[in-house]
Amino acid sequence: MNDPVFEVVHSTLCDMGFDSKRVHHACRTSGQTMDVEAIMYWMFENEYDESMDPSPSPPSSPSPEKEGEGGGEGGREAAEGEKRKVRRVPIRLRKLFAEMQLLDQSAVSTSKLTESFGWKPNDVRIQQDITELNRVLCDALSRSLVGTSLEGLITTLLSGLIVNKIQCHRCKKVREREEVFEDIVLAVKGHDSLFGSFGEFISKEKMKGDNRVSCENCNDKTDSTRWMSFRRLPPILTVCLRRFDYDWQRQRRTKLQTRLPFPTILDMEPYMESFVDNIREEEDFHEEIEREREEEKEDERKEGQR
Ligand SMILES: [Zn+2]
Repeated sequence: MNDPVFEVVHSTLCDMGFDSKRVHHACRTSGQTMDVEAIMYWMFENEYDESMDPSPSPPSSPSPEKEGEGGGEGGREAAEGEKRKVRRVPIRLRKLFAEMQLLDQSAVSTSKLTESFGWKPNDVRIQQDITELNRVLCDALSRSLVGTSLEGLITTLLSGLIVNKIQCHRCKKVREREEVFEDIVLAVKGHDSLFGSFGEFISKEKMKGDNRVSCENCNDKTDSTRWMSFRRLPPILTVCLRRFDYDWQRQRRTKLQTRLPFPTILDMEPYMESFVDNIREEEDFHEEIEREREEEKEDERKEGQR
């Protein structure tokens, strides 16, 4: 192919990081005009398999326009069997990003992506929150990578460990339970920054009265303090904001529209296990002193009454 236009398109795309063979294949078989954007778009739409080369039996070209509802790619996938189908999610995701980057329009549709992980057009009436969408998407992505060299990638990138601790006030023993997470949900209500939301996440809760829990050591229901913190952070920490609230007066769900600023660099140390446990110890120490002081005052008051 000694076409000068082809040479320019080919070298431009190779300079952008596309594989030379793949570009060659796309130029030959796509049926697109020799236009950088059109060829690039076609490559995002069509997976490249080296086994397709070198058997240049092109021009009954698969055009992206054919890809209507259940058309184009669906038919191709069906023809190439189940093995292809399971990788639809990463392809759709990649295509969505390509569209956002390349198309000259202010918004792009996500319907093909949501369809690829199983949401049907009817589901549009069902209210899904961002936490749910994120979990469904990651789960679909994770499943679609099974059997590829990237299997387990999602878990490696997103999963971390939270530790829940309960300290008995009587015997001071601390019990703990680890929990694997791939995202955390933080409260928005009552906070004016992400720090406040994280503060609530690690805040302690006193379990007294009806809320008392059993202590194995004391063999009894005792007062205790419960809190949680991060034991291990993932390379990518996903934070979902709980913006839904329930309006008891109007008896319906409402959405909190308050602004929640967050820093571009987030120091997570104050929320890690060792840091939080130290704070708890200090708080216990101060509470102990406060209690002794109160008792002394009470004694003095009784003394004075006599
Ligand atoms: Zn105890």
